[in-house]
Amino acid sequence: MSGPDELAEQWGKVSLALRHEIGHAIFESWLSPLSPLSLSNGVIYLKSPTGFVRDWVTNHYSGDILSIWRTVNHEVLSVEIVVYSVPKTSLESVSYELPVEAESEQDWSRDGALDPRFTFENFIVGKPNELAHAAARRVAEATEVTFNPLFLYGGVGLGKTHLMHAIAWHIKKHSPNRKVIYLSAEKFMYQFIKALRFKDTMAFKEQFRSVDVLMIDDVQFISGKDSTQEEFFHTFNALVDQNHQIVVSADKSPSDLDGMEERMKSRLGWGLVADIHPTTYELRLGILQSKVRSMGAKVPGKVLEFLAAKIISNIRELEGALNRLMAHSSLTGHAVTLESAQELLKDLLRKHDKRLSIEDIQKRVAEHYGIRTSEMHSAKRIRSVALPRQVAMYLSKNLTPFSLPEIGRKFGGRDHTTVIHAIKKIDALKIEDSGFAYNLEILIKILES
Ligand code: ADP
Ligand code: MG
Repeated sequence: MSGPDELAEQWGKVSLALRHEIGHAIFESWLSPLSPLSLSNGVIYLKSPTGFVRDWVTNHYSGDILSIWRTVNHEVLSVEIVVYSVPKTSLESVSYELPVEAESEQDWSRDGALDPRFTFENFIVGKPNELAHAAARRVAEATEVTFNPLFLYGGVGLGKTHLMHAIAWHIKKHSPNRKVIYLSAEKFMYQFIKALRFKDTMAFKEQFRSVDVLMIDDVQFISGKDSTQEEFFHTFNALVDQNHQIVVSADKSPSDLDGMEERMKSRLGWGLVADIHPTTYELRLGILQSKVRSMGAKVPGKVLEFLAAKIISNIRELEGALNRLMAHSSLTGHAVTLESAQELLKDLLRKHDKRLSIEDIQKRVAEHYGIRTSEMHSAKRIRSVALPRQVAMYLSKNLTPFSLPEIGRKFGGRDHTTVIHAIKKIDALKIEDSGFAYNLEILIKILES
């Protein structure tokens, strides 16, 4: 159905959303080398210059790519990444093997990796983040290690990366002799894998072991990769033994990090574990006001209150909404008003207006299929239970703004890949079985009424 132009256009949209979702740096490193090849039988084929990039993206991002792509084109059922070999005559193919590393080894500790906006001065403190903020401050200002590691955790877009960069900026400014390294867990793994390939793991280890403060962002990405986990563990222990500060962030608490070895989980929880709670109205409003002030812009208080009340998912989305309004106003020369805000943010607001909860869906679907609501969380795999559960997951994705991991969590702590699997399954069933499709329609009507 989709020709090459449409496919390119879809990839353009998906890329934009992905860049937003996973961050510019990761996108540039891993996803920008990809391009769309074809769409057939619901499968999107993306081409990758190397097997390494293919494996990495498949393991980490195929779920995100799929769920975003499905919002652009509902026909898509899965995403496959294939290695597309460049003809031998092309010189480029030779230098393509490691697309990320045009940069030097030390890059991760340079300022380039740090966002200049992410400072303590620009961080608004409220109830949900006060502990995390105080702990980050303490680490930044301390001359001695008080708790090790500092483990920051919380949902997407709540300020973990901001706090880590703020620590780094503070130390760079006030104690320039201290060596600080900030890097994402993915970068850590990438460097490690590269060191393995070039048989240079000694140098790799030495670099980390000579730092004063090591910060690793999003460690949930280290889980599952045995050799990197092992290396992380050793580096971690060496640094702790030498009394060097470690700061780690993740989207879950140490004990909830699936795929992480027990000894690692317990070690991560040794220091101070500070979670960042979902935002409150006051915090959202405070952040908006401070952003508007720092941009020297004028936005009516009513509009800010409206945004703070409506966009509750995370701060990144809130900022995105504000940016959209400002961009529009500066392009058209019209002031931002409540009406224009409502109009411009229609799509975002619709997403947040759905007040249907995952629990509502589970309850209704369970009633519909005559099973107990508790079976939505159970591990049972028999079809009479598994199918309703998959239906409920599918509806949760389609009728609520929750992310795949959030949905998985509400279904007895399942992984987001299980949710993706359920969505694919239900999509396929809808096509195969018209009775089922009809039933599903009815369920949706009931839930939406
Ligand atoms: P996370 O790493 O937890 O996903 P980020 O640190 O990237 O989230 O934060 C997302 C966006 O929200 C960033 O632009 C960040 O500056 C902003 N932000 C988060 N918390 C605050 C805060 N308390 N005050 C000001 N801006 C914040
Ligand atoms: Mg982050």
